[in-house]
Amino acid sequence: MKRLNLNTHDRIRYMRKPCLQVLARLLLACPAFSQPQSAVNPQPGIKLDLDQLKAQIRVTAGRRLRPQSWPGGARVAVALSFDVDNMAASLARGDIAPGVLSRGEYGAVDGLPRILRLLDKYKIPASFFIPAVSDLLHPQMIRDILASGRHEVGVHGWIHELLPALNDEAEERRLLERAVAHLTKVIGKRPVGYRAPSWAFSPYTMGQVAKAGFLYDSSLMASDDAYEVLLDGKPTGVIELPIEGFWTISPSSTFRAARSPHPNW
Ligand SMILES: [Zn+2]
Repeated sequence: MKRLNLNTHDRIRYMRKPCLQVLARLLLACPAFSQPQSAVNPQPGIKLDLDQLKAQIRVTAGRRLRPQSWPGGARVAVALSFDVDNMAASLARGDIAPGVLSRGEYGAVDGLPRILRLLDKYKIPASFFIPAVSDLLHPQMIRDILASGRHEVGVHGWIHELLPALNDEAEERRLLERAVAHLTKVIGKRPVGYRAPSWAFSPYTMGQVAKAGFLYDSSLMASDDAYEVLLDGKPTGVIELPIEGFWTISPSSTFRAARSPHPNW
């Protein structure tokens, strides 16, 4: 088993707060949402027996990894992380309208510098999960992230590819290896943390994350505490630092904060 001196207990996360009324109107106006529910969601699970349902649950929580105490006798440990998606997800799905891309560009121009200034002000370490394409388009970002020496950079896909939609084991492996190789070259060491784009695993992701040798994943949400991930009931050696457990807030879609490890772990 790998290092277990974990620390993660903040439940801060940023997410959008849409105007629900406007959203509801848009959804009702959209043909996809006005179709009969059965056409949109066929609910295949209703046809399966218990064994078949259990066979579908392949990634689960193993042993709890909450330490007996936090360093310095602290009552709670807080960690911040940010997903530096920028334009990557939009480019991945071909959504290239200038307005959409400019929203992603905001992260590189003003969003990230603002966050780094705030973290620097209070000398808070954080983790930044970044798609390789985000770095290729705005290489200054990782240079700025690493400038203080306090922060960690983790893998967040090649181009924020949506893995369940990709659903291709070989192609997913190619993109993961490409992303790891790129970040390794840029930050000067192999990244130890992984967060799936959109937190979304394909059937192959957990196996590939374990095989790639990541110390931890931060895409799942099975516990308040860190835990070891099981794949098909077997320990993977990968620590999960759950992303969701308490509450979420967000000023923009470009940056998101979640529980994540101290960069030096
Ligand atoms: Zn993301």
